[in-house]
Amino acid sequence: MNNPFDNALNQLARANAVKPFPADLIERLKHPNREIHISIPVTMDDGSLCVFEGYRVEHNNARGPYKGGIRFHLQTDIHEVKALALWMTMKCSVVGIPMGGGKGGVTVDPKMLSKGELERLSRGWMRALADVLGPRKDVPAPDVNTTPEIMAWMADEFGKITGDTSGAVITGKPLGQGGSEGRGTATAQGGFYVFDALREQLGLPISCRVVVQGFGNAGDHAADLWTKAGHRVIAVSDSKGAIVSDTTLDIDAVTAHKKATGSVVGMSGTRTITNDELLALECDILIPAALENQIRADNVGSIRAKSVMELANGPTTPEADDALFARGISVIPDILFNAGGVTVSTFEWEQNLKGEHWTEEQVFGKLKEIMEREALEIFETAQTLKTDLRRAAFVVALGRLQEAMQYS
Ligand code: GLU
Repeated sequence: MNNPFDNALNQLARANAVKPFPADLIERLKHPNREIHISIPVTMDDGSLCVFEGYRVEHNNARGPYKGGIRFHLQTDIHEVKALALWMTMKCSVVGIPMGGGKGGVTVDPKMLSKGELERLSRGWMRALADVLGPRKDVPAPDVNTTPEIMAWMADEFGKITGDTSGAVITGKPLGQGGSEGRGTATAQGGFYVFDALREQLGLPISCRVVVQGFGNAGDHAADLWTKAGHRVIAVSDSKGAIVSDTTLDIDAVTAHKKATGSVVGMSGTRTITNDELLALECDILIPAALENQIRADNVGSIRAKSVMELANGPTTPEADDALFARGISVIPDILFNAGGVTVSTFEWEQNLKGEHWTEEQVFGKLKEIMEREALEIFETAQTLKTDLRRAAFVVALGRLQEAMQYS
């Protein structure tokens, strides 16, 4: 199994090889500033006690407070959280927002918890970390399996402990609790702006056939957005399996089916396929929107997409990157393609600090400008350096980090 943190370090080294940065900068970025490991005791509904393992990794804050989501997943461990934190540092730098990189998590399958247990776990995570978090220190957000409701419990807990009820300690909150317009769809929306800015240069048709792996916080909105823009989503998946249509999926119907049954599988008019078969479908765009290490040395040969657009964090290993590049399959890297989420999170933080509420138009207007500008910058950097878009994105991010860290 690929260790995601090793992959992240590998990506850093590979970018540094195409455009060398000072050795001290690279050395510092290889080590997170702080790794915090917590135990979260939760009283379960039957009265028994369960102690969960939780994490917060603060990777780098040279450009602003640590920023990054909290993941609730059984596969989550310190290696994964460290990788995700490093990627957040790069991601925030790629989009030029005044934030550093951090990430949190709990090793848990939240689907096995009752609502009350989930709330006690969420409040417990915040209680254990309240002294290291804060609007000017470290600002978490949602990630895999965490929701606006969980953010609201955590914001409330932080307010009770510290008296700071501005909400600026955490983003991705519900609209009524200081959340931002557009945050729910921001990750997919940001990706769409990047796609739109680069479509022609990447040689993609006006109407693309799209495959989405993962129908969670980001993938479901991506399927919807690409459909509304006139593209054809032909296959989607979730943790229970994948479905494909011979024509086009009706995304509203898939969403309704998932809501009713808990999965996309079994949707009428579709065929059920495996995750490997989904990744191997012939299409224009493959959007991995689930977990790390999905496209690897052992299955990269089966990819028949023209372009891979990473809505998930870390879905492609460095070995697979090389194989795709050699075959002329472009990969728009996670630290650019999915950066719309943290960008709108930062807008939310700014609104909370200033006591403002921006309209959806204002939010998406600002987001579009940033995503288009950085997409073009990274595309040009890749052309100049004759390299792939991931190395180019790291190079752009490293340049800004170098500037921020020169006196530290
Ligand atoms: N979890 C998201 C990410 O990986 C969003 C982080 C945030 O909004 O801080 O980028």
